[in-house]
Order: sequence, then structure tokens, then C-alpha cells
Amino acid sequence: MTAHDRPVLELTGVSKTYGDVHALTGADLVVRRGELLAVVGPSGSGKSTMLNIMGTLDRPTSGTVRVDGHAVDRLSDRELSALRAQAIGFVFQQFHLAPGVPALDSVADGLLYGGRSRAERRRLAERALRRVGLGHRLHHEPHQLSGGEKQRVALARAVLGDPPLLLADEPTGALDSRSGAVVIDLLHELHRAGTTVVVITHDRDIAGALPREVRIKDGRIEHDSATGAARLREPAVPVLAGAPRPGGTRPREEAPR
Ligand code: ADP
Ligand code: MG
Repeated sequence: MTAHDRPVLELTGVSKTYGDVHALTGADLVVRRGELLAVVGPSGSGKSTMLNIMGTLDRPTSGTVRVDGHAVDRLSDRELSALRAQAIGFVFQQFHLAPGVPALDSVADGLLYGGRSRAERRRLAERALRRVGLGHRLHHEPHQLSGGEKQRVALARAVLGDPPLLLADEPTGALDSRSGAVVIDLLHELHRAGTTVVVITHDRDIAGALPREVRIKDGRIEHDSATGAARLREPAVPVLAGAPRPGGTRPREEAPR
């Protein structure tokens, strides 16, 4: 498998419990390079739990997570931070911009650990802010920006290092519908430019307008438009190797060389 067709993200049988709360149960999901998809479900269905696990911000209780081919459970916290910094951009409903910090610095600080000079970081930050249409707001502080503008600053920061994967958790959740539409347009634009984008939302209209929709309820993936209708459950009893299959044929053996 070449680096290009290796999935960006792969969850296999991923579960997460908090005490006796089953936040996520047996999630299987493969995200390929260049996809734009929604994970949609009602409040409390496990979406943020899933995003945090996809983004390696949290480790699953069981199951395996691969990011860009790396099995997350085999990496130390330090290796995980490095992978996360290089491979994943995040956007959250609450913009997470430090009060009193101008947009340019908020964005430039996203590259603090990349070994670049301050001037270079600011140059890249300015370019990223222009890319999200905020060239005229470089020196504004969060309290001088609208919600939509704040989210665009957060987006600029998330994509500054050109991560192959962007994870957005309810990116329009705190916005009016017009500002929300601008943010969704920007996500489409980043996707067209090559970024793989996962949008988490409770908004079925937003989800329905994206090329792939994964529906989650009570911590279970109920439907994935990429793999067809209601997901088939694994057989409760594993099929024994060599046992006759329904229909009578045996699995073919590898031909000896
Ligand atoms: P969503 O993002 O879809 O609203 P979450 O993933 O935040 O859902 O939560 C799924 C379930 O897990 C909910 O029942 C929530 O209360 C619970 N949960 C989430 N995070 C924690 C936590 N850190 N500790 C305890 N329970 C949690
Ligand atoms: Mg959530």
C-alpha cells in the first residue's frame, strides 16, 4: 500500500467508557485521503468522544486507532504529540482564542513548536488569515471580532501547518446561520485544496450536504453512506476457518507455489 492510498484515519472496534457510561461502542470507520465527511448525531451521542479519539486527544478503552498508518496505542505520549502536531488540525465550537491576543499572533502561535522564526510564523499566519478572508482583521483581538470571524481565525490556525487531516467539532454550533455557511464554505474550499475534513455536527442539513454522512446514536455508528445502508453487525459466533459457509462453499486455500 502506498502512502497515498493508506487511510488517513482508521478506527477498528473502538469503544470508550467513562465509568459506567458507554460513550462509544465498537466504532469502525475508515477515512481515506481527500474525503469530506460528516459525523452526525444528537447531543450526547458520542460525537465529541469520537473526535477526541480520532484526534488522539484521548485514548480509547478498547479497539485500535490508526492515524496516517500509525497505530496510536504503540506511540508514547511524546510521539503522539508530534504526530498530532504534524498531521491534524482542530476546530472546536468554542473558538479557543486567547483573550487580548491579536488574530495574527493567535494564528502564528499555532506554529510555536515547529522550529520556525517569529517572522516566518507571522508571515505564514498572515497568509492563512488572508486565505480565510480576514486580511483586514490581522490585528484585531477576539473581543473585536464577530463569532464567524473568530471561527475563521481558529480555522486559519488549524490549517497553518498544512495538516493532511482537519477535525471540526460543531464548527458552526455557536454561529448564526449566515456565519455558519461561510465556515462550511471554507471547509469545502480546504477540502478542494486537498485537506481531508471530518465535520462533527448535530445539524442534519449540514451533514446531508456533505459527500459522506456517518450517523451515530447512543455511541454506535448506525449508518455510513460510504458503506451502504444500515451497518451489518458482525456474526455473534465467529465463523471457524475451514467450516462450510452458508451456501456450501469453503474458503479457497492459497494455491501452493
Ligand atoms: P456529543 O458530542 O455527541 O454531544 P459526547 O461524546 O460529548 O457526545 O458524550 C457522549 C456521552 O459520554 C454522554 O453521555 C456524555 O455525558 C458522556 N461523557 C463525555 N465525556 C465524558 C467525561 N469526560 N466523563 C464522563 N462522561 C462523559
Ligand atoms: Mg459534542
